[in-house]
Amino acid sequence: MTSHQPSVSINHQPLIEKGSGESETLLLTVSESRKLKAIPNDNRQLKTENYLAHRNIPITIVGGGIHGVSIALRLLREIPTAANRLVILDRYPLPLTQWKHKTERQGMTFLRSPAVHHITPDALGVVEYAEHHNREDELAPPYSQPSTQLFRDFCTTILTELAAYKVYHQFEVEKLRWDKSAGRFPFRLISTNNTGFRSSCVVLAIGADDCAYVPPEFAQWQRKYPKTILHASQFTVDSNKDGQHTGGKIVIVGGGLTAGTLAKSLSEQGHHVVLIARKELKMEQFDFPPIWLGPKALTEFANETNFRRRYDIIQQNRGEGSITPNIMETLVSASNIDLYPKTCIHNIVSTEESPSAQRLKIETTRTTITNVSRVILATGYQFDLRRYGFLAELITKYQIPIVRGLPCLDDDLQLQPVQDLFGSGTIAQLQIGPAAGNIAGANLAYERMREKLHSHRGSNP
Ligand SMILES: Cc1cc2nc3c(=O)[nH]c(=O)nc-3n(C[C@H](O)[C@H](O)[C@H](O)COP(=O)(O)OP(=O)(O)OC[C@H]3O[C@@H](n4cnc5c(N)ncnc54)[C@H](O)[C@@H]3O)c2cc1C
Repeated sequence: MTSHQPSVSINHQPLIEKGSGESETLLLTVSESRKLKAIPNDNRQLKTENYLAHRNIPITIVGGGIHGVSIALRLLREIPTAANRLVILDRYPLPLTQWKHKTERQGMTFLRSPAVHHITPDALGVVEYAEHHNREDELAPPYSQPSTQLFRDFCTTILTELAAYKVYHQFEVEKLRWDKSAGRFPFRLISTNNTGFRSSCVVLAIGADDCAYVPPEFAQWQRKYPKTILHASQFTVDSNKDGQHTGGKIVIVGGGLTAGTLAKSLSEQGHHVVLIARKELKMEQFDFPPIWLGPKALTEFANETNFRRRYDIIQQNRGEGSITPNIMETLVSASNIDLYPKTCIHNIVSTEESPSAQRLKIETTRTTITNVSRVILATGYQFDLRRYGFLAELITKYQIPIVRGLPCLDDDLQLQPVQDLFGSGTIAQLQIGPAAGNIAGANLAYERMREKLHSHRGSNP
């Protein structure tokens, strides 16, 4: 390993919840972990890190995904001069890489959310882009959900605006420290290459993808058959085009949109797919009721002072996942998809001696499925702040209060008692509610932290 390649961090490890509420980690191999990170083997990372070394930066956004980029663009459009006081850090060389990976991996063709939600505050941005490029047919009825490609192309155009500001840097944060007594730049950020700089305020826009969730009963089977049983975050639909799994059935576990989209994509490739869900499959256009974007629901949510009850409200409103009507239509009509709702798996065994052509037998409460070449766990993510190794020291030292893995942020989205450390995305759920992790959640989060961010753009670097 060369010095500028990242070391294997504890990120990206699926979370296995034990019945007791304790958790243990399921280790990915070094090569799997590297593949997920997809860091190019060149010296771009070092150059950009050297630029940051020993500097004092007023505003640092950790995470160049949908949320990090959305917040930066909002700030820069309001105050263009903030460009020389702001940096976005991400472990990937280009912004929105994680988004691109996850949508490609599943073969997602349309977004679930309406076109008005995207990375800039300009609600009509995607629609006008579609009109200008004669691509209105890529806005699906009934809510003008953009095609994944249209959304991506629109974002690429917007990212040229961001590139002009030169605020994005490839930098994987390994440690975040805060020393209140250290003057105007109390945060110290250190990269996996040991480059460090100081900042007066930090926004955590780190997504939830480092917290893949594997239900406890699957952990033992996944350990036994690690090449055949994969979490959806480790699986790419295109990897199944190689013919390696020809003839075997692909079992998808889960009842949400990821499960539905994977089933659709794989069935279109000609695979025999079996979708197993613990509950009845639920059909919904959105993954949370849209009322959660408006003031009424959010005011009531804010009036609930007990963070555990807030967590329960989020669970009730996001549920255990649902499938959009157009995907459901395919699932029901495709002749090569078997749907097993209200079904539990109680055993998985191997029926082949040869590891090169492993076939599994899956015993369920409904039937036994034989000749299974692949099991994909579309079992989602369970955010837990403690899974982010670079925050471990800060969480322990300042006893940041956490409820069910989520930090109890204050009204300005600060991770008190640490001041000027903000969160946007799933991390902010206990303040922003069920929409926090979605694209629309970035706007809600920005509105909350705006005033404080504006005050920091004045700190002289
Ligand atoms: C397949 C899929 C489809 C979705 N479709 C929709 C949709 O249609 N509409 C909708 O509203 N929502 C959708 N979502 C939900 C949500 O909008 C996305 O997950 C979105 O990517 C969340 O943005 P984010 O910025 O919070 O996280 P991410 O996009 O995951 O970005 C987080 C970034 O933080 C970086 N990072 C983390 N830790 C570090 C570190 N230590 N150092 C440096 N960088 C770090 C990561 O590299 C990553 O780039 C979808 C989610 C999935 C999985």
